[in-house]
Order: sequence, then structure tokens, then C-alpha cells
Amino acid sequence: MKARIIDGKALADELFGKVAAAAARLSADHGLEPGLAVVLVGNNPASEIYVRSKSVKTVAAGMRSAMHRLPDATTQDELLDLVRRLNEDSRTHGILVQLPLPPQIDPQAIIAAIDPGKDVDGFHPVNAGRLAVGLPALVPCTPLGCIRLAKTVHPTLEGLDALVIGRSNIVGKPLAQLLLGENATVTVAHSRTRDLPATSRRADVLFAAIGRAETVRRDWIKPGATVIDVGINRVPTADGKYRVVGDVAFAEAAEVAGAITPVPGGVGPMTIACLMLNTLRAACRSVNLPEPEI
Ligand code: NAP
Repeated sequence: MKARIIDGKALADELFGKVAAAAARLSADHGLEPGLAVVLVGNNPASEIYVRSKSVKTVAAGMRSAMHRLPDATTQDELLDLVRRLNEDSRTHGILVQLPLPPQIDPQAIIAAIDPGKDVDGFHPVNAGRLAVGLPALVPCTPLGCIRLAKTVHPTLEGLDALVIGRSNIVGKPLAQLLLGENATVTVAHSRTRDLPATSRRADVLFAAIGRAETVRRDWIKPGATVIDVGINRVPTADGKYRVVGDVAFAEAAEVAGAITPVPGGVGPMTIACLMLNTLRAACRSVNLPEPEI
């Protein structure tokens, strides 16, 4: 294996430690305890795991965690009511409504109802727009984590050919905006892209956010390129269980790439650490304090 493995878990632990230290200072110096409210509607098993780990991490970071569990039959109006209450609650600095939502609820209506200053997921159109025009914004956590991981290999991304495979609102598009902000030359590919292997082979830094197991193969990768794998895919195994793999065929890609993130242990842990960072930022902004440089 040739590639350097980018240890997302260790990097996330380091970031988490800095956020926790800054939260402790905020509390000691200003009596301000950052608070994150996580809302879970229904009992999607994957969502249950995600919200539990977010809540545990919030508490471990010395922040206030509030879990709101609503039944699967919750109406859109009921969820909007809760969001309004959380918008008005001065102890809540970040609001995260776990997606996906049950079919009777329009996720865009919920996202639009969240106070943009508390939108720690960075999904509100105001935050997406601010990011697009280069204004300070709350930025989605996964793309933030991806940039941090890439910068451990390339302290500056300026001038590099960056490819983002995937154009979702939560990963691909904001990641492309962040890369533009870093002065990379950005290509965004998607399901209609022609000859994706050839497009991929031009990339100095390749971000895969596709949602299809092991799509990016060895011969898609420029030798020495950096590969950041966002994908989380459950693949059934012979014993009736499953294993989690990324969007990149890790073992073969690692023979060609210069650096690569593993799945699990790459982008995932960084996403949660960036959520803590966003909550800290939102708390600082809520009282016009400067944000710690982290
Ligand atoms: P998504 O909304 O389903 O978007 C997938 C994107 O990939 C779409 O833009 C789609 O193109 C494109 N795509 C699908 N098949 C393709 C193909 N064969 N060739 C090229 N492009 C293709 O997914 P997402 O929410 O962005 O998530 C992507 C992956 O990241 C998933 O595995 C998800 O679980 C994972 N994820 C991980 C984290 C984390 O914390 N690690 C966070 C969020 C998401 P079209 O637009 O043309 O349909």
C-alpha cells in the first residue's frame, strides 16, 4: 500500500479537544454555555445512532445537549412549532433536525424555519447563499471536515485541480463553494457526467460523495492524488451482517493515491467534530463575541 492514510479519527479528536477547550473558556469568561438541540422524528435506526453520538459528543465537549424525540406520525405543523420554540430559546445556539424526515414533512419547509444563526447544519438557504457569495456563514459540517482533511496534505489548495463527485445540497455543492473559496480549480461531476474515469484522472484532489459503494476505482485516480471519501454505504456480507464501505474502492485506490481517507474513520468523525465547532461559533455569534481561531 502506497498512500498515506489520513487518520480522520485522530484529526477529529484533535479538533474536538480545541473546541472543548474554547467552550470551557467561553463558559468561564462569559458564563455562556453553548447549547445544541437535536430533533429526531421517528425511529430510523441509522438516525438513532447519529443523534446519539452527536448528543454524547456535545456533552463531552462541555456543551448543553437537548434531545427532542418526536413520534413518526408528527405533523409538519407540530415540528414547525418545536423549531419556532427552539429559535426563541436563548439557551439553544444550534438546532439540528436529523434527516431524513417522514414523508408527511417537507424537509425544505423545516430547514427554512430554522433561525439561520442557529442553523449548525448550514442547510438554510440564507447560509447556502452567504457561502456562495463569500460572506461569513454557518457551513455544512461534512464539507467543512473534508476541507480540513485535505489541508492536512495540502496546506494550501490554491491552484489545485479539485474534483467533487456528487452535487447534493448537503455535501457536493457546499464543498465546491468552499474549494472555490480556497482558490482551487473546481469540477463538479454527477450522474450525467460523461467519462467520469477520465475526468477523475485529472484531479489532484478527488472528493467522492456519491452514495454508491466503491464506485471510484484504481484507474480513476491520478498517481499521487489525494482522495477524500465521503461515502457511507452498508454492504451485506456472507454471514448475513453488513460492513460499511465508502464510495472509493479503498484497497486498490490506496495503491495509486498519495493520501486517502478510510471508511470508517475518515470523514465521519470529522463531520461530528465540525458540528461541535459550528455550535461553538453559533454561540459566540449570538452574543457578538469573536469566534475562536480553530
Ligand atoms: P445524494 O444526495 O444521494 O447525492 C449523490 C450525488 O452523487 C448526486 O449528485 C448524484 O448525481 C451523484 N451520483 C450518483 N450516482 C453517480 C454515479 N454513478 N456517477 C457520478 N455521480 C453519481 O447523497 P449525499 O447526501 O450527497 O451523500 C453522498 C454520500 O456521502 C452517501 O454515501 C452518504 O451516506 C455520505 N455522507 C456521509 C457523511 C459523513 O458524515 N461521512 C455525511 C453526509 C453524507 P445526480 O445529482 O445527477 O443524481
